Amino acid sequence: MANQQLRIVVIGAGMAGILAGIKLREAGVDDFVIYEKADRVGGTWRENTYPGLTCDTPSHHYTYTFERNPGWSSFLPPGPEIQAYFEDTCRKYGVEDSIRFNEEIESAEYRDGRWHLQLKSGAQDVADAVIAATGVLHHPSLPDIEGMDSFRGALFHSSRWDHSIPLAGKRIGVIGTGSTGVQIISALAGTAALIEHYVRTPQWIMPVENTPYSEAQRSTFRQDPAALEEAMKTEEYLASVNSYTQVITRENMAAAQFWKDTCLQNLEASVADPELRERLRPDHEPLCKRLIFSPDYYQAIQHPQAALVSESIERIEPEGIRTRDGQLHELDIIVLATGFKPDQFMRPMQITGTNGVTLESLWAQRPKAYLAISMPDFPNFFMLNGPNGPVGNFPLIDIAEHQWHYIDQLLQKLRTAQCSGICASAGALARFEERRIEAAKKTVWFVGGCKSWYLDAEGIPSSWPWDYECFVSEMREPHWSDYELMPAPQREQAAHSAT
Ligand code: NAP
Repeated sequence: MANQQLRIVVIGAGMAGILAGIKLREAGVDDFVIYEKADRVGGTWRENTYPGLTCDTPSHHYTYTFERNPGWSSFLPPGPEIQAYFEDTCRKYGVEDSIRFNEEIESAEYRDGRWHLQLKSGAQDVADAVIAATGVLHHPSLPDIEGMDSFRGALFHSSRWDHSIPLAGKRIGVIGTGSTGVQIISALAGTAALIEHYVRTPQWIMPVENTPYSEAQRSTFRQDPAALEEAMKTEEYLASVNSYTQVITRENMAAAQFWKDTCLQNLEASVADPELRERLRPDHEPLCKRLIFSPDYYQAIQHPQAALVSESIERIEPEGIRTRDGQLHELDIIVLATGFKPDQFMRPMQITGTNGVTLESLWAQRPKAYLAISMPDFPNFFMLNGPNGPVGNFPLIDIAEHQWHYIDQLLQKLRTAQCSGICASAGALARFEERRIEAAKKTVWFVGGCKSWYLDAEGIPSSWPWDYECFVSEMREPHWSDYELMPAPQREQAAHSAT
């Protein structure tokens, strides 16, 4: 079958966008561009620079499968090393030349069988297919606390860290007990004159050893990739992911007990003061919120210059935080580790598909996409880490690679001119949504009854509600009967580039 040259636009040069670039290049697609609104690659690892930034996926598993990194310094990869890994990989695979930095897409409209893109800079582009790799947890969620504007010190969200402000000798308040808040407390206890952790909901803390890799180990991994793969096997990471997922899907209550017992033992063994221990004890089911993996949070919060504040926040005043018991906590810096809006994805881009259907109208109730990848009325518009994917369940890079394998098969239909457009049918999305919501209501995120970023505005968990095997199997090959194919037009193939 004839091979059509396609013009492809990728949105975002984070982990998933770089992957798309590498894979397109590998497939011999030359006519593609990656638009990146910032001036560097890296996505979440570029935006988050807070002290203690670490990924809780074991480092050797936090790489593309085709580009391992023998040089990680420790079992859990530090944020700056991850950023460097993506920058290096991008360069090594020649993807950087295809990225247009400081270019933000404002709108995309499907017209006359192609996507017409308008960029904020005024430039325009026309593409046969669009790959949205815009990330998930990147729009900061700011709390609605009275008096926030009145604070005289520095106040910023964890993902907008102000590095111009020295931390030594300062009194710092951190609001939020997700993975971010916990990592910041661990990093700053002992550095700051005082670090206060404002904890509305105590979290389950899973212990993890963050062992450094020795130079000898790194050298072995460099010289012998098989040794690296072997070392990865001994970590039994996939078994751990499976066990974790079985707790989420509530298929294995013994696994749930294991995770709970391990976290409880961690609390009992690590926190000496019984009063503090009780204030740190969670009252919800483990994994109902995103579990926190930390080698040192309990030690950090017991540091003489650290304090846990369990009293809820009344308001923020010029001098600090006033808690409900009337106490004023005088502070120099307030960090909002209050998480992200998980329902934004490519928004605020205005996206319009066939027959004037807009993304806002399709997503009026909640963001949705067939298998997290494709949407009816949006032909040739595919997402990496789109809505309802396994974000927060399985390692994100692995997810993106599986999703790329699937998307590539959709693109292949276009490349081989079997159609001019392809998207999931409305029926397929409706059936998927029905199944997904039914399964989501059985997960610990729903049954456990706690508030978390997993829940959408109607309280339905938005992440993938099935296990890893199910995800991998769905990504193997599209069920073609779930797709609508538009007939291949007889049109001229023209070269298009941003103007
Ligand atoms: P998060 O998990 O959504 O946590 C937000 C925290 O802010 C919660 O403790 C929440 O309390 C608190 N909060 C929000 N509004 C508040 C208010 N008005 N007053 C007091 N507390 C308030 O956010 P995150 O820690 O940034 O993490 C988000 C996700 O990013 C994680 O779940 C994870 O998937 C990812 N992440 C991963 C890593 C990693 O190592 N892989 C590191 C960082 C982040 P409540 O619980 O009471 O609502």
